[in-house]
Amino acid sequence: MPRRSGRNTDTQVTETNSTEAVVSPKKGRVLVKVEAAAEVVTKVEEPSPAKSLRKKVKAEIASESESLDTAPKALADIKTKQKAPKRKAKTEDGDEDEDAHDKKTPKKRKTKGEKEAEAMPLAVRTVIATLKHAMHIGAHVSGAGGVHNSVNNALHVGGNAFAVFLKSQRKWSSPPLAAEARDQFKAMCLEHKYDAAKHVLPHGSYLVNLAQADPEKAEQAYTCFLDDLQRCEELGIKLYNFHPGSAGAHPRPEAIARIAAQLNKAHKATKNVVTVLENMAGSGNVIGSTWEDLRDIIALIDDKSRVGVCIDTCHSFAAGYDLRSPEAFKQTMDSFASIVGMPYLKALHLNDSKAPFASNRDLHANIGTGFLGLRAFHNVMNFAPFQHLPMVLETPIDKKGPDGKTVEDKGVWATEIKLLEGLIGADAESEAFKKEEQRLLDLGAEERKKFQGQVDKKKQKTLDSMLKKASPKKKKAPKGEDAEDSDASEGCCSH
Ligand SMILES: [Zn+2]
Ligand SMILES: [Zn+2]
Repeated sequence: MPRRSGRNTDTQVTETNSTEAVVSPKKGRVLVKVEAAAEVVTKVEEPSPAKSLRKKVKAEIASESESLDTAPKALADIKTKQKAPKRKAKTEDGDEDEDAHDKKTPKKRKTKGEKEAEAMPLAVRTVIATLKHAMHIGAHVSGAGGVHNSVNNALHVGGNAFAVFLKSQRKWSSPPLAAEARDQFKAMCLEHKYDAAKHVLPHGSYLVNLAQADPEKAEQAYTCFLDDLQRCEELGIKLYNFHPGSAGAHPRPEAIARIAAQLNKAHKATKNVVTVLENMAGSGNVIGSTWEDLRDIIALIDDKSRVGVCIDTCHSFAAGYDLRSPEAFKQTMDSFASIVGMPYLKALHLNDSKAPFASNRDLHANIGTGFLGLRAFHNVMNFAPFQHLPMVLETPIDKKGPDGKTVEDKGVWATEIKLLEGLIGADAESEAFKKEEQRLLDLGAEERKKFQGQVDKKKQKTLDSMLKKASPKKKKAPKGEDAEDSDASEGCCSH
C-alpha cells in the first residue's frame, strides 16, 4: 500500500476517458455464467453496442494480466484485449507522483509502451447489473498525491468499490485535507459513478488505539481518529474502517469500555459517518478477534446507527472462524448473525491467508493461493447478504522486477476482481472450477508450507516450555500497551 500518503500536492488529474464496459455475448462457459440482476445498483457507463447485451454478459479483462501469477485463465476466460479507452498519464503511486510534481527535475522520458501501459486501465469495470449477485469488489488503492487519485486508481484495476488511507497511516499529524483534493474527489466519484457513501471504505491509521489507557496517548489517538472521520464527512464518505485496539496490560472489559467511550464521543462530534470495526486475527491483547468482542463494543455504543463491522476473511480464518466448506461458512456466518447481528455488517476485506487455520497470524495471501482456497471465496461470492457491501482486496501485489527491485503489480488486483466476480453463480463442482482451484493452490504451495512450518515450530516450542515449567495455567505476561501483538507486527493491510 502507499508507503507515503497525506501529501496534498493536488495533482491536476487529467482524466478524460469514460469507463467502457467491454462485454461479450459468448455463452456456454461453465463457470462464468453471469446473469442480469433485477436491480441496477451501479450503472457504469456503457458503450452503445453493449446495451443490447445487457443480459448474459461478462466483462473481460482488457490488458496485460497474462503475465500474472494469479491470472485465473481457466476460470474467468480472461482475454487480453487492447481495447481500453485512452487515458492521459496519471499518477499511480507516491514515487511517480513526486516526480510528476517536481518540474525542475529533468525526467527520464518514458517509452511509448510505458506510457500506454500507464494510461490504459488494467481491466474494465464490470457492470453490477450483469452479475447474479450485486457484489461490489475493489481493492485498497493508493491515495498518494491527494485522495482524489484513489478514484483513478480504483478505476484502473476495474474496481466497483475501494479503500484508501485518508492521510498517512503511520504519522500522527498530516496536513489538512486540501479543498481542491476534496472537490476533485467528489467530482470524480460522480463522474465515474462511485457512490462514496456506500462503496468507499477508508482504512484508519495503524497508530490509533482507542483502547489506550494513558490519558495523553488516548487524547492523541482520539484526535487522529476524529480528524479521519471529519475527512470522511467532507468527502461524502459514510463508512470508516479501523482496528478496534489493544488492551495492553489492562483488563479486557475496561479496554472495550474505553473504545466504546471514544466512539461515542466521536459520534457526537460528527454527523453521520459509521465507524466500522474490523475483526482481527490476533489473540492475546488484541481486541476484535472474536465476535463477542465486537458485540461487547457495540453494546456500549449510544447511537447504534453509527457503528458497524467489517469482516476480513483472512483475519476471521486466522482467528478460528472457518470459511472453507459451505458448511463451515454457514456456521461462521450463523454465529456472526446470532452474536453480532447481520445488520451491523457493513463491509468485507477479501484476503486469502498464508497462515493456517486458527494460527492467529495476520498474513494476507492472494486469492486462492492460501489456506482458505478458492472454495472459501466461492462461498463468500455466493452469499446473498453480502450484496451491496464494499468488498476490498488487501492482497499482496509486490513483485520482483527484472532488475531485482520490488515493484507493485496492480494487475494482480485487476485479475483477482475478475476472478471473484467469475465465482458468482459458478458451479464449484465443475471440472473447470477444480482445475482453477488446484492451479492457484499450486501457486501458493511453497508459502503455505513455509508458514505451516513456522506455526508448527511455535506450537512445539510453547508445548516444550509449558512442560518445562510444569505450570500450564500461567500465561505469559503482556508486554504493555504498545506491545507487538502478533497482529500489530504483521499488520493487516500493511502490505
Ligand atoms: Zn483487513
Ligand atoms: Zn485493517
